Amino acid sequence: MKANNRKKIIVAIDGHSSCGKSTIAKALARKVNYIYVDTGAMYRAVTLYSLRNRLWKDGKPDETSLAKHLKEINITFRLNEEGLPETYLNGENVEKEIREMEVSSHVSPISTLASVRSFLVEQQQAMGKQGGIVMDGRDIGTTVFPNAELKLFVTARPEIRADRRLKELQGKGNTEITLAEVLKNIEERDYIDSHREVSPLRRADDALVLDNSDMTREAQNEWVLELFEKARSY
Ligand code: C5P
Repeated sequence: MKANNRKKIIVAIDGHSSCGKSTIAKALARKVNYIYVDTGAMYRAVTLYSLRNRLWKDGKPDETSLAKHLKEINITFRLNEEGLPETYLNGENVEKEIREMEVSSHVSPISTLASVRSFLVEQQQAMGKQGGIVMDGRDIGTTVFPNAELKLFVTARPEIRADRRLKELQGKGNTEITLAEVLKNIEERDYIDSHREVSPLRRADDALVLDNSDMTREAQNEWVLELFEKARSY
C-alpha cells in the first residue's frame, strides 16, 4: 500500500485514572501538531456544574434535574500563554477547580449517567471528525472513535499512580492531602469507571497496552511516536 504521511489520523488514548494518559497525549499532540482533547476535563466540568447547582440528592447525582440543565452547559478549551489547553465552563476558566478533590470524588458517579455521556460524546465526535486529533479518556477507542487509526490503553500499578498524582497535587499547592486519600480515590474511580453500564472502561480489542510503571517519560514518548508514524503511514 502506498504510504500517506500527510493523512490526519485519530489517536485514542484510554486507561486507568492517573496513569499519565494526558502527559502522553499532550506530548504527542505537540510533537505532531495535532489538537489535544482531554475528555476527563469535560466530565469534570459537568461535575463542577452539578455541585455548584446542588444537583445531588442523598449523595447521588439527581439525573432528572441534571439532564434538564445540560443544554445550559457550555464547555470549551482555550490555550494559555504556555500553549497548554485550559477548560472553560460557560466562559469561566475552571481548570484549577476541576482538578481538586471535591470534583475528583464526585466525577465517576456523574460519568455513569447515560444523558451526560451522550451529551459529551456527541461533542467529542464533532471535535475529531476531521482527524488530526489526540483524545484521551476512558471510552475513546471503544465508543467515541471505534475506528481510530491508533488506540492505546495505558496503565500502571496503583501505588505508582497515586504517588505521581500526589506529587502533581502538591506541586499545585495542595499540601493537605495524603497518599492514602489519593490512592483510595484512584481505586474508587477505577472501580466505578470499569463497572458502569454505559461505556465502561475497557481495553478496545485492537488497542495496544502500555504499562508505564517502570518506564521513563522519554522512552514512553519515543515508543508512542513510533506507533503514530506507523499508524499514519498505513
Ligand atoms: O481523565 P480524568 O481522570 O480527569 O477523568 C475524570 C473522570 O471522568 C474519570 O474517573 C471517569 O469517571 C470520567 N471519564 C469518563 N469517560 C471519559 C473520560 C473521563 O467516564 N472519556
